[in-house]
Amino acid sequence: MGDYYNMWKNLDMDLEKHDQLCEILPEFYEEVYLSQQNRPDAMNYFNFVISEIHGLRVEELVNHKKQGGKIIGSFCVFVPDEITFAAGAIGIGLCAGSQFWVPDGERVLPRNICPLIKASIGAKLSATCPYYQACNMVVGETTCDGKKKAWEILKDYIPVHVMDLPQMKREKNKEAWIDEIYSYKSKVEELTGNIITSEKLKESIELVNKKRKVLKRLYNTRKFPQLPISGKDALLVTQIAFYDDPERFISKTEELCDELEKRIEEGVGVFPSGTPRLLVAGTPMAIPFWKLHHIIETSGGAVVCEETCTGTRYFENLVAENGEDLDSQIRNIADRYLKINCACFTPNHGRVDDILRLVQDYKVDGVVYFSLQFCHTYNIEYLKVEKALKQEGIPIIKIETDYSDQDTEQIKTRVEAFIEMIK
Ligand code: SF4
Ligand code: SF4
Repeated sequence: MGDYYNMWKNLDMDLEKHDQLCEILPEFYEEVYLSQQNRPDAMNYFNFVISEIHGLRVEELVNHKKQGGKIIGSFCVFVPDEITFAAGAIGIGLCAGSQFWVPDGERVLPRNICPLIKASIGAKLSATCPYYQACNMVVGETTCDGKKKAWEILKDYIPVHVMDLPQMKREKNKEAWIDEIYSYKSKVEELTGNIITSEKLKESIELVNKKRKVLKRLYNTRKFPQLPISGKDALLVTQIAFYDDPERFISKTEELCDELEKRIEEGVGVFPSGTPRLLVAGTPMAIPFWKLHHIIETSGGAVVCEETCTGTRYFENLVAENGEDLDSQIRNIADRYLKINCACFTPNHGRVDDILRLVQDYKVDGVVYFSLQFCHTYNIEYLKVEKALKQEGIPIIKIETDYSDQDTEQIKTRVEAFIEMIK
């Protein structure tokens, strides 16, 4: 990484603590990623992004701010990037996938809540995430109880706008969600000083759709018997999609897809044929949470798809591009986002249907149901998913864990036994 000391200083970061964070990542990345055999060449771009994780992209954000632009952080795939970009702001997903931030989160939050929430708050309190430090505002949502209440605490440290996400999908809930998108639009216009026109919104709808399409193309390459890319690498690409420059990300991922499609034609794969194909379903895996994929792929299995918010829930379904005015465009945006089947909805039959469909599409041999510790919604929803999969004769295992590596060996033993059973 280049010398960004002054930039970090100007972002009011805790430099000493940040050094500790920076020390961990390279060794960890080497072990999890660079040790893989036969990786696609186009993954070099994504290696580079990680090597510059707190450098180049942050510098771009800082330069955007110097030119009067604004940065908006978010924590959930329900926050509509289309609105953010249409106002000339840059939207970034704040990762919060590291154990490093959990103790700082626990300074102000109870210990028995989900690690994602603790890390989301801890990253700000510790002043060690330059993305967070660069944000003019962050957007929270009323998805689960833990998040809802955490925003009240976070408000003391950074401006927070909260979107009220309905928990049901009836017509009246959809109308309320449209109203929320309008409120977010007003908030972003106030922050940026830019009015969102129908033309600008059209451009950003097309841009975000393009990102979704390229991720879909990437995932399609994982449907083939000879897997051209590991699950770990595919997860990394999706994680990077949350904060990279969208145009550059699209073009680099297109390059990767070209290479993967060529590999498919030539029958080149990254795993021996017959490797059990696993779908990971459940809670999001924010960067640098690679624990479960690493365990699976070093235990004789391959992850072929993620039914998570750092997987299919992020890119499935496009916003219809036929909106002729602001109102119809915003309705189209609301429609698309309400198709996301997060466990915070009740009822949530759509998610079970999604999992059954993905099992077929990706020719899955077994499902690893992943729940972050203390995530009630995904934890409780396991029962319905298990029942539906058992009816179809699809093996399933539930893994509940946090960001620490204390239970790694225990999970590995269970995953190995599961893989052995479905072989
Ligand atoms: S799991 Fe639900 S609350 Fe969490 S990021 Fe996904 S959509 Fe948002
Ligand atoms: S993983 Fe579960 S508990 Fe954690 S933020 Fe997402 S929905 Fe809430």
